[in-house]
Amino acid sequence: MTNEPVAAVLAEIDAMEGEILEALSELVRIPSITPKYPGLDYDANVGGESRCNQALGVHMRAAGCEIDLWNKEPGRDNLVGVVRGAGEGRSLILNGHVDTVPPGDPDTWMWGDPWSGRVEDGKLYGLGSVDMKAGLVAMTKAADALRRAGVTLAGDLILESVVGEETMDHTAGVSATVERGYRADAAIVTEPSGFSSAPVVAPCSPGTFWLRITVPGKATHVMVRGNLIWPGGEGERYGVNAIDKGYLIYDALRRLETEWGLHRNHPLFPPGHFTIGLNLLSGRPPGPPVPFIVPHECVMDYIVIYPPDDDPEELKAEITAYLDRTFDQDSWLAIHRPTLEWIHHWPAYDTPVDHPIVSTLSSAHSRTLGVVPKIQGFPAVDDATYLQLGGIPSISYGPGDIMVAHSVDEHVSCREVIDACKVLASTIVDWCGVA
Ligand SMILES: [Zn+2]
Repeated sequence: MTNEPVAAVLAEIDAMEGEILEALSELVRIPSITPKYPGLDYDANVGGESRCNQALGVHMRAAGCEIDLWNKEPGRDNLVGVVRGAGEGRSLILNGHVDTVPPGDPDTWMWGDPWSGRVEDGKLYGLGSVDMKAGLVAMTKAADALRRAGVTLAGDLILESVVGEETMDHTAGVSATVERGYRADAAIVTEPSGFSSAPVVAPCSPGTFWLRITVPGKATHVMVRGNLIWPGGEGERYGVNAIDKGYLIYDALRRLETEWGLHRNHPLFPPGHFTIGLNLLSGRPPGPPVPFIVPHECVMDYIVIYPPDDDPEELKAEITAYLDRTFDQDSWLAIHRPTLEWIHHWPAYDTPVDHPIVSTLSSAHSRTLGVVPKIQGFPAVDDATYLQLGGIPSISYGPGDIMVAHSVDEHVSCREVIDACKVLASTIVDWCGVA
């Protein structure tokens, strides 16, 4: 294929730099907090996703897209823009999410404003800048640059901006696009795929479980603790401290996590990426939260991160069996078994490294930026999972450093937004072909 159309498109993007960043500022200034985030007032936050997608829809329409704006839940509009191909080329989905997490304390942000959209020192600041309005703008403006350069694609290009990603609410968002019939020969989720580095091409992600373990104890007066824990005391007849018993479980799962660190590897992830982390712990006595009674319950919430090629059911069985052996070794837990609840599962996605979308994107990156991209697993989970479950081979690639997502003073490098726009435009031409 000649590179002529690509050269014309890249020249358009250079000329569009100011308006691309202005469009990103505009979207960042429209709050789009995911309304189902735990602890948030749903009614006070619903609607932001729609407002932001309506604004993005204006840019998609300008890029020559047919617009489809619809929702599964009122006030939570998904947006899809389609550029119909004029020939027999392969089709491509570019997907991102419009929702963000909440900002925390606004006063801790630069300029006291989580939605500033301001540029300073080559970085554009604001909640949702890197995660992931930058990706949404880069892909939309890539389509616009194609139109301005007069490129007619052979295959369909489908741009998607969905709701609900941050709360694993895929049925309202990404899965609704699949259900509505949007399919393609491949998909790229434009999540920030730089990890303190240039964006990597990420053909897979880990899978994630949320596991809750509820450990029973037996409440009694705190002054009898000596009787509960030392030889010669009354022991479990009078009381059992559920937090002490939870510690046995904590210790056991740290040992299993260490085993995983030694043995559970995957060529596209750094050693030790797969972990069993206790992230929420609450042990307490019955009644008001006071420390005068031995706690009767300890609830431990874990996030389990496992390799994309592991069978999730086997993994659950492994953890369950490990815990069962731990319970068996303790006189109280052997009889008063803790309960295990697998509260949520976000499956991995796993597209073969030799899939043509990986090589097409990689060579577009190399040609455009002059460096070969790393091919590496996405460290977190994203909506590529649900596109792949919909039968679409999916990978992740997008501007910015994921390490600054979900943090105060979230920002994205302006250079990376423009670079990603160019790489995506070049990928679209190579993948979909020119009519
Ligand atoms: Zn994200």
